[in-house]
Amino acid sequence: MPVLVVGSIALDSIKTPTSEHHKLLGGSASYASVAASFFGPVNLVGVIGNDFPDKHKQLFASRKIDLAGLELADGETFAWSGEYEVNMNNRKTLSVALNVFEKFEPKLPEAYRATPYVLLGNIAPSLQRMVCKQVVKPKFVVADTMDLWISIAREDLVELLKEVDMLILNDSEAKQLTEDDNLIRAGKKIVAMGPRYVAVKKGEHGCLLFGKNGEFFSTGAFPLETIHDPTGAGDCFAGGFIGHLARTDDTSFGNLKEAVVQGSLVASFCCEEFSLRRLEKLTAEDIVERRKAFAAYVA
Ligand code: AMP
Repeated sequence: MPVLVVGSIALDSIKTPTSEHHKLLGGSASYASVAASFFGPVNLVGVIGNDFPDKHKQLFASRKIDLAGLELADGETFAWSGEYEVNMNNRKTLSVALNVFEKFEPKLPEAYRATPYVLLGNIAPSLQRMVCKQVVKPKFVVADTMDLWISIAREDLVELLKEVDMLILNDSEAKQLTEDDNLIRAGKKIVAMGPRYVAVKKGEHGCLLFGKNGEFFSTGAFPLETIHDPTGAGDCFAGGFIGHLARTDDTSFGNLKEAVVQGSLVASFCCEEFSLRRLEKLTAEDIVERRKAFAAYVA
């Protein structure tokens, strides 16, 4: 089953305590679509500017990602820069240049409208809602979000929550959204706001999954000794998650749990190198091998 991924496509500049890189391929849709492509076909919707390097487009094409929904607009590609603290967990945004993203309104090619599995990557909730209006009878719609939208677009986000099957966000965002410092209560409050499920990511400490009917699952993250660049790990989690659901075409809670594990594993690869460099070399077999190793680590 194919996956539809909508989100940002960016040129990122990233600074870590040990190195600095500029104009890297980034953006929620870039990471998520490549992550999902290890599981099956992907339809990508996003916007790029005239400066978007051909080699990045070739990476999407090499992963067999359908680019009929990739819009080329006159201007520069969305650009984001961030800096990590020594612990590689805390990050501050240094600059955001919306560029062609400023006027972007996602338009789904006719052939994408019936895509059964939909990932609304991290972009403004008003844009995510535009996609919800264009899809026809999807089997499962997942939305990713971030602290910025909880701060500046809460009303849109609250409306979006009534239109999707699942929300993905991290622990501090779950606390911010619900104004509750207890993550278990926060998870329960989010499913009460609309979605059937919520995945609360805890970075290196794993992920919690909550269902509307009291379902609950907790998993650790794959243990990594060295993190080179965690940028996009959340997007890879979302891409791996929806990719696994689409490949298995099974939305039971038992399979959502496995999707959380698969998403975490793809995210772990993402952290091993800057930008999408590790994913460029990754194979589906590598994910299978890491899954076996992970199984041996948990009780
Ligand atoms: P993550 O590390 O999973 O939070 O995702 C990082 C990616 O999100 C980077 O590649 C950025 O280009 C992208 N990004 C950062 N801020 C925004 C924003 N406001 N809207 C859309 N994408 C963003």
